[in-house]
Amino acid sequence: MYEVRSFVEDVARRNPAQPEFVQAVTEVCESVIDVVNRTPSYGGNKILERITEPDRVISFRVEWEDDRGELQVNRGYRVQFNNALGPYKGGLRFHPSVTAGGLKFLAFEQIFKNSLTGLPMGGGKGGSDFNARGRSEREIRRFSNAFMTELQRYLGPDTDVPAGDIGVGGREIGYLYGQWKRLRSEHTGVLTGKSRLWGGSLVRPEATGFGAIYFLVEMLNERGESLEGKRIALSGFGNVAWGAALKATELGARVVTISGPDGYIHDADGINTDEKIEYMLDLRASNNDVVEPYAREFGATFVPRRKPWEVSVDVAIPCAIQNELDGSDAKALIKNGVGVVVEASNMGCTADAVETFAAAGVPLAPGKAANAGGVAVSGLEMSQNAMKLSWPAEEVDAKLQSIMQTIHATCVRHGRMPGGGIDYVRGANIAGFRRVADAMVDLGY
Ligand code: GLU
Repeated sequence: MYEVRSFVEDVARRNPAQPEFVQAVTEVCESVIDVVNRTPSYGGNKILERITEPDRVISFRVEWEDDRGELQVNRGYRVQFNNALGPYKGGLRFHPSVTAGGLKFLAFEQIFKNSLTGLPMGGGKGGSDFNARGRSEREIRRFSNAFMTELQRYLGPDTDVPAGDIGVGGREIGYLYGQWKRLRSEHTGVLTGKSRLWGGSLVRPEATGFGAIYFLVEMLNERGESLEGKRIALSGFGNVAWGAALKATELGARVVTISGPDGYIHDADGINTDEKIEYMLDLRASNNDVVEPYAREFGATFVPRRKPWEVSVDVAIPCAIQNELDGSDAKALIKNGVGVVVEASNMGCTADAVETFAAAGVPLAPGKAANAGGVAVSGLEMSQNAMKLSWPAEEVDAKLQSIMQTIHATCVRHGRMPGGGIDYVRGANIAGFRRVADAMVDLGY
């Protein structure tokens, strides 16, 4: 019989100084422990021990020259965590906070997220501690080329297929793919999130944000509510927040905040015009990592050095980075009457925040369910690349919507509580885990 505390203590001992990885493992174990203890083939095949140990963690040196001609050295990683369901799949993060432990947590979450999509994808994640702030376009290109020069040895369309994440958008994917083609002379689906001009899928840029809103619509339907007129707080201002703002606005909600490391924007009228929403892309492209210019451009309020969770809203959607919403933020949101929380960032809520929302009966969709739309459309991009054709936007969007509806229904099925409420965290963990565990049992060791 497994017991969460002793199992997690052992994981913590073997992974020193990797608190986010231990946090993610703890949450999954708490949800699946009963299933594991009830299923002899899981214990017999040591599924818990094996699923918490990556297949491999690759670390490499990235050397590149800055605009002054000085040599720069960064560290690159790829965590290939589990390929029971398909090739390793997951994004690349370029951010100064990137560490091996952080990427292990993200790759671990990715296993279950990818499983929930129902598509044949294993879990992986990679990236570098590269800081793009203040870097020129040419420096970003040289760094991306150098990164791919090392990473390419470990990739392949049926082996490992990275995509974007924080700090890696369409521009970086272009440079990475260009270097792949230069080195390998292969035009294959080895990265997703490519431009539609050279093999990318329509709707991929919007997919994570759109998917989170489709998931939110299902959660509200479940409660007999609709999105129409709901006030939404978003954090972040990157690709995910952009897609979420587009779709939420289209469906009649009012997005009132975005945020950056410098503080948050409160636009009570709503970030609701094409001009305002597209402005997020300008902010991102400036490489300055600040949202304050939005306030000057559109006459909204800028609140320096604070998080948007103090604004009174119906729905909160963290879209920035892990652990960006903590216990006291959760209390402030609850006090202001928040009805639903959707993690569009990976593990956007701390364990304390998750507990606080649960105790208050506020439904919380975990990232591995709610933000699966991005990787789901990546899976569809892989299919289109394999078939060497391109589906129309409506077809991709319809498939995305149907995948998000299925994930929601799966979470409800596995997360229904005796009182009738839904524990989305538990539902997502159990459903995501079981598909991978069953595959691992079938495949032997
Ligand atoms: N980085 C995204 C995620 O966290 C997308 C990964 C992908 O498309 O492979 O799921």
